[in-house]
Amino acid sequence: MIENEGIVIKSIDYGDSNKIITLFTISGLKSLTVKGAQKPSSHTFNFAKEFILLKYEDRGKYLIGGKVENYYTNIVNDIKLTKSALRIFEIINMLVEHINDTKTAYEFLKQCLDLINQKIDHNLIELIFRIKFLYLIGLSPNFNSCVRCGSKEELAYFSLFDGGMKCNHCKDIKDYHLTNFEFETFRLLYLVKLDKLIEKIDAINYQYDEMNLILNMFYSHFLGFESSVEKIYKKINK
Ligand SMILES: [Zn+2]
Repeated sequence: MIENEGIVIKSIDYGDSNKIITLFTISGLKSLTVKGAQKPSSHTFNFAKEFILLKYEDRGKYLIGGKVENYYTNIVNDIKLTKSALRIFEIINMLVEHINDTKTAYEFLKQCLDLINQKIDHNLIELIFRIKFLYLIGLSPNFNSCVRCGSKEELAYFSLFDGGMKCNHCKDIKDYHLTNFEFETFRLLYLVKLDKLIEKIDAINYQYDEMNLILNMFYSHFLGFESSVEKIYKKINK
């Protein structure tokens, strides 16, 4: 019975004919060897493609049966959509050990890939993933009270490197803080429900470059994470 399910986020050659795939599943990352998957004529060839939703059966380190549930064709065929998916995969791959609830993370990943594949604004979905992922690793930004004294009154600004609001009494001119527009966007993308996104999408006003920069700083400050995918794409675009 083929009952397990995962998304192939990485696939590398192994030996003359095999591949090793990394799947993200409801229980986290899983690596499996797929015999013969380098040969296009092999029945296992399709099971080792990146960006597929795979039902699989495994024994030990080996994949012994599979069925591709979704090829995410639009993501694979459009370099811009691919970039957004790769930035999401990269975060999962590098930060998986921080995830508190891998089942929720898996369902969330699937929902994001479906939306990107449906050609719903891929930049927006990528940003929403990167913001909401903070919740999944216990790094929720604090929007409702002062991070220093806990007060809910006279909140002055969102301090990026303190990860939350500061009140008028605790504010510090040295803080790097978000402008009102940046803060409103940040909070909106954090709180928006993905299943309600399509009906609300026209009202979401955001600047990709600005939010990308803020999130890069946040991830770098709290997690020491820098995106290699972004660097590679910048080189390609030069
Ligand atoms: Zn305060």
